[in-house]
Amino acid sequence: MANDENLAPRLGEALPPEIAAFLKVASSEAAARGWRFYLVGGAVRDAILGRAGFDLDLSVEGDAIGLAMAIAASPDDVTVHHRFNTARLKWGGHHIDLVRSREETYPRPGALPTVRPGPINMDLLRRDFTVNAMAVSLNPDDWGCLIDVCGGLRDIRQRLIRVLHPGSFIDDATRIWRAVRYEQRLGFRIEPETLKLIERDRVMLGTITPDRLRYELECILTETAPEKVFRRADELGLLSTWHPSLKGDSWLSEVCARARSLVEKPHPDVYLALLAWRLTASEKEEFIASLRFTKPQARALRDSQAIAENGGILTSPEAKPSAVAAVLHGLSRDSLVAAKCAVPSGVAGDNIDRFMNEWKHSAPLLTGEDLKRLGVAQGPDLKSILDGIRDLRLDGLICSRAQEENFVMEWLKSRPGES
Ligand code: ATP
Repeated sequence: MANDENLAPRLGEALPPEIAAFLKVASSEAAARGWRFYLVGGAVRDAILGRAGFDLDLSVEGDAIGLAMAIAASPDDVTVHHRFNTARLKWGGHHIDLVRSREETYPRPGALPTVRPGPINMDLLRRDFTVNAMAVSLNPDDWGCLIDVCGGLRDIRQRLIRVLHPGSFIDDATRIWRAVRYEQRLGFRIEPETLKLIERDRVMLGTITPDRLRYELECILTETAPEKVFRRADELGLLSTWHPSLKGDSWLSEVCARARSLVEKPHPDVYLALLAWRLTASEKEEFIASLRFTKPQARALRDSQAIAENGGILTSPEAKPSAVAAVLHGLSRDSLVAAKCAVPSGVAGDNIDRFMNEWKHSAPLLTGEDLKRLGVAQGPDLKSILDGIRDLRLDGLICSRAQEENFVMEWLKSRPGES
């Protein structure tokens, strides 16, 4: 089954020297135990494409945990999962995953597969796309030899994303999202038959749990340009499976690109807030419920709604700093960054910048204790007076401690019953 192609020279170029050294050690430890040992999945694809910085997934026809323990400098460097016979190993500054090669069957669509040990060829046949279904032998007798049972090399050369069999999306509809993600990341095309299967099987996304769907969205949000995936997903009628009002249009492309021009690597929740920016408050709540977003994700979405609803204040050149701060106080940084991208106004951008850099940090010189000493009783008045002083400072109407004390004295005098 091995292909003529030998990837040894490419691996030599692509791998950091310490990883290359690790693979040699691991290879001889596996060989000493009679276990075959392979590099699999995305790392093989990326080595062929000459894409740097890939994670290593290693597959052993044998005991992956035993092999990890044999290689590790200390057992503390190994995290194991006995149920799946997998191990994660710390090696220098790297994390390396070792997995027992396995085969899978799907008890029903959308369910997680039933897994049992199996040979490398079967391990490759359970994978999502041909370009991810290749292995490279790390065995001393055929080191670097490509194992390509599904035509992955041909598809890499033709730049195609192709499933391994027509039932692939029925087995696991999350692969539909993965197909679009790889297509856009690699600049490939989804192959025509696979595209037809996406159209046929996209209803199967309804069989996937919210947590797995959310995971797929999270993977997209960490891509370099998530908007490309959203645009293509919209074309394929997939975006609406998350929420019918989501759009992957040129507005979204522009604001996502703007996010990258503002911050080097925008947080995924910035992209999430932008994706959902134009949903109404109730649509955002439906979206949050349907994908069971985490608390920080839901916060980014709700905070961005609070900003969208007060766009008028942010864009008004006359708005006082205290009014801008009243809108933005307590909102997440990601929602503020998203707002800078989504609200198309220089005034809003300046207001948000000044809030983040200055106004947010503005606080009265007087403390609660000072107020009590001046005669303010413990209770809600304390906070409202401090907030009032903060707002006057923001608007430049109070600048000194004496003026703050004066404000408090006036407030005390103005209470009902005081003359
Ligand atoms: P990358 O995102 O760069 O491809 P990766 O290859 O490590 O990283 P993972 O999502 O970690 O991607 O998956 C590892 C490998 O497991 C994939 O290359 C693929 O072969 C396989 N795989 C992952 N998810 C699925 C799935 N839903 N169905 C079938 N195979 C999958």
